[in-house]
Amino acid sequence: MQGYRYLDDTAILRLDAEKCIGCGNCLEVCPHRLFTLNDGKARITDGNACMECGACARNCPVEALFVNPDDGCGCAHYIINSWLARVLNKQSNGCGC
Ligand code: SF4
Ligand code: SF4
Repeated sequence: MQGYRYLDDTAILRLDAEKCIGCGNCLEVCPHRLFTLNDGKARITDGNACMECGACARNCPVEALFVNPDDGCGCAHYIINSWLARVLNKQSNGCGC
């Protein structure tokens, strides 16, 4: 999802591969498809595209994922505004948060 991104190195998304049991829930629920399964363990493919919605962490049965939208900067509003600005050929006005 190269076109739907926030600022690099700002999203707080952590995966504890030791805890992961490879259930695949995070692959199903992530709206940006940021996970793959390799050798029975989830992997984050592009953490900078995370918008910190929290869906992966809420649906992980073993708490292997950690997302903190309160302290992070990922913001769906910003991503949508950036996309609209690009489509409309205008300057983005940020997220407004
Ligand atoms: S917080 Fe949301 S966007 Fe980020 S990895 Fe989890 S499900 Fe995907
Ligand atoms: S939801 Fe949790 S246990 Fe399941 S694959 Fe993702 S990280 Fe692993």
